[in-house]
Amino acid sequence: MSQVSRPDRRVFLKLSAAAASLASCAPRSGSKPKSVAVIGGGIIGASIAYHLAQQGAQVTLLERGKLAERASRGTFAWINATWAKQPRHYHAFNQAGLAGWKRLQADLDIPVRWGGSLEWFPSADRQARLAEQIAEQVEWGEPARMISTRRFAELEPNVEIGETDQVAFSPNDGAVDPVLATHILAASARAAGATVQEACEVESVFDTANGRAQLKTNCGSLVVDDFVLATGAAPRVTQALAGIDIPQRSTPGVIVVTKPVSERLINRIIVAPGVHIHQRDDGRIVLGEQDGAPETAAHAERLRNRPNRFPDPVFAVQHAARILDLAEQFVPGMSSAEIEDVFIGWRPLPIDGHPVIGRSPRRSSAYLAIMHSGVSLAPIVGELVAKEIVTGRSAPEIEMYRADRSFESVRRY
Ligand SMILES: Cc1cc2nc3c(=O)[nH]c(=O)nc-3n(C[C@H](O)[C@H](O)[C@H](O)COP(=O)(O)OP(=O)(O)OC[C@H]3O[C@@H](n4cnc5c(N)ncnc54)[C@H](O)[C@@H]3O)c2cc1C
Repeated sequence: MSQVSRPDRRVFLKLSAAAASLASCAPRSGSKPKSVAVIGGGIIGASIAYHLAQQGAQVTLLERGKLAERASRGTFAWINATWAKQPRHYHAFNQAGLAGWKRLQADLDIPVRWGGSLEWFPSADRQARLAEQIAEQVEWGEPARMISTRRFAELEPNVEIGETDQVAFSPNDGAVDPVLATHILAASARAAGATVQEACEVESVFDTANGRAQLKTNCGSLVVDDFVLATGAAPRVTQALAGIDIPQRSTPGVIVVTKPVSERLINRIIVAPGVHIHQRDDGRIVLGEQDGAPETAAHAERLRNRPNRFPDPVFAVQHAARILDLAEQFVPGMSSAEIEDVFIGWRPLPIDGHPVIGRSPRRSSAYLAIMHSGVSLAPIVGELVAKEIVTGRSAPEIEMYRADRSFESVRRY
């Protein structure tokens, strides 16, 4: 049985196109297909479900709420492999993520706005370090470079950068509408034979005598060969279902989306001091605050249950207005944009900043896929996880991200 929430018209048109492109994608004949449940209908779960179905697995995608209503909604959705992606192997993994988006854009018609990102800092010291970081990017095969303010003004005539004399330009970067992308991936998984079920929470798992897994959910019970936990920032879930505690430091971030603005104010992703900004093709402007909530006891109490909404709509508007004011100093006119949505996203963030991908050392039928930068990584993660599960062969690209590694705490975000 397949139950998904009704997408809006824009999503519907994209979904129809994706389904049409998959109509010829018949399941492979031969040995009995592996049955796999993917738990979590964010961008990671949807990508894994799509790639598994493409590779001939019998897939059930289970989401306890609606598709893309957690981190994959409250995200800035910048697709990047910039200097912050360290060390080299993780940078290369993100580069593969970018290449994967080109593939998904072509195969499924997922709209991606390319054009690059522009970043700068207010202090001379930090700017000097940024120039070194960009030089390293060039060594790593990125077409990144520092550009003059004159060149910047040509690229972004509506953006003001104050006293800064140079800006880092990473031309390969892009951005997606993460909710639309998740819906297209889930619809494409369905078109390739998967079942997609919303409002279905996996509550517990039992090992069967023949090494399979029985999932107990609030919408029935399901026996599968393997299950994938693409459950985002939900550490108790990985403990309960895979028997493993992933050390995470899940931090909140406020994302503001404006109503469509008819004028094109911004062409690229603007990574300004304190605020990230981009404008989608539909005119909506997306803003992400760079600094998190102050680490006070009062805030800790308010955030204890990881809310996605402010307790009061007045607070939400105040926060959004503060972020728009921050952006106004770089993009004059920005603060008059009408607010459409204010969302608190929670980063699924293993403490060393790297993904956790692979089988649980405690339960062999459980496979984990928990990560930050999941928007950048969704295509490559989906592809490699599906390959590992279907073929049983390890993918060298994800060897260093296994759950049994020793987690070294490095603050990166
Ligand atoms: C403020 C912010 C800014 C970000 N900016 C960027 C960025 O610019 N670029 C980038 O690449 N990444 C960014 N990220 C990170 C990125 O958004 C996440 O890595 C990505 O969305 C994670 O996707 P996911 O599918 O793993 O998690 P989610 O989207 O959280 O999905 C997990 C799903 O699992 C479901 N679930 C949990 N438990 C169960 C259960 N027991 N049964 C059924 N369903 C269950 C949840 O309901 C949820 O829908 C940002 C994140 C935040 C919060």
